Amino acid sequence: MQTTKAYAARAANSPLAPFSFEQREPTATDVQIDILFCGVCHSDLHIARNEWGGTIYPCVPGHEIAGRVVKVGREVKKFKEGDPVAVGCLVDSDRVCENCRENLEQFCESGPTFTYNSSDRHTGGVTYGGYSKSIVVDQDFVLRLSDKLDLASSAPLLCAGITTYSPLRKWKVGKGQKIGVIGLGGLGHMALKFANALGAEVTLFTTSPGKTADAKRLGAHEVVISKDEEAMQKQQKKFDFILDTVSANHDLNTYLAFLKRDGVLALVGAPPDPMPVSAFNLIMPRRQLAGSLIGGIKETQEMLDFCADRGITCDIEMISIDKINDAYERMLKSDVKYRFVIDLASLT
Ligand code: NAP
Ligand code: ZN
Repeated sequence: MQTTKAYAARAANSPLAPFSFEQREPTATDVQIDILFCGVCHSDLHIARNEWGGTIYPCVPGHEIAGRVVKVGREVKKFKEGDPVAVGCLVDSDRVCENCRENLEQFCESGPTFTYNSSDRHTGGVTYGGYSKSIVVDQDFVLRLSDKLDLASSAPLLCAGITTYSPLRKWKVGKGQKIGVIGLGGLGHMALKFANALGAEVTLFTTSPGKTADAKRLGAHEVVISKDEEAMQKQQKKFDFILDTVSANHDLNTYLAFLKRDGVLALVGAPPDPMPVSAFNLIMPRRQLAGSLIGGIKETQEMLDFCADRGITCDIEMISIDKINDAYERMLKSDVKYRFVIDLASLT
């Protein structure tokens, strides 16, 4: 066992603070990673504050991890010391169920091991995430990062990136389609970049008029301020697909009405409370309401390779770890441009 420095939430209503924990020594198939950067996802905030229920304290969040390999087990062939690597939301799964065999480990039938706040298949304890100096992960759940991309601005690809890439691929978004993205935060800004790169015509729906110019730079062809009723009225039945990245409660019926016949509204945002849906809004022109959860390991690597080919990374604001509680408050005010990334060199 080795002692690892971290930041943890000790209760739903207490700020994150320094913490240390014992980490397992790498087994034959493990990779030990020196964490250099970790993105700050809104899910970290939901979980640190127990907004979804089920948080186990102390909780070390962080599932957008980028770093370098420091040690590998004797059976590890894919990675060597010094390689730039990444870890996302998953660190293990049963690998034998139908979903794992189809490379959809996020839906592992015996339960995927999430990077933090999950039962640890090795130690029987709880997993601790990327707000820490080091992580030990089985080689099958470690991703390769290209030397072509900046490490810090690649870190959020591991959740914000894959969570938006996967549904755009699943619902075959591309040329000739009109796509909506709701919310311009961490997920939303990657959705704009990917939908644009895939050739779709992209509209952003935002509550923040001040984000209009950035949205256009990030890939939106049109920006609609969701408080502007007249502009919203004009969107009825216009869209093939809408990706909803909003973290707080909002009216889904408004956006369902913007879909054409057979259009799909896919939720990736995960507000804690249920949201009512009008049956007529679905049955009238046969619309679909769907959801999507991150992506499997194979697709995550495909997304990282797509980003390396196209030179796509995240727009980040770097913070030292002692600013994490301020970053959470700013995230709640939609004041993120467009992902906070923790520089772990600040954790001493
Ligand atoms: P974020 O950076 O905080 O962005 C959320 C955006 O939603 C805000 O920037 C804001 O954009 C908009 N918004 C916030 N409050 C709103 C409200 N009351 N009404 C309308 N719009 C509002 O969060 P994130 O990290 O992108 O995560 C977004 C959500 O996705 C979270 O719930 C997170 O837990 C979830 N998530 C899901 C998955 C998955 O696999 N499904 C993975 C990662 C995260 P504007 O200022 O543009 O309105
Ligand atoms: Zn996340």
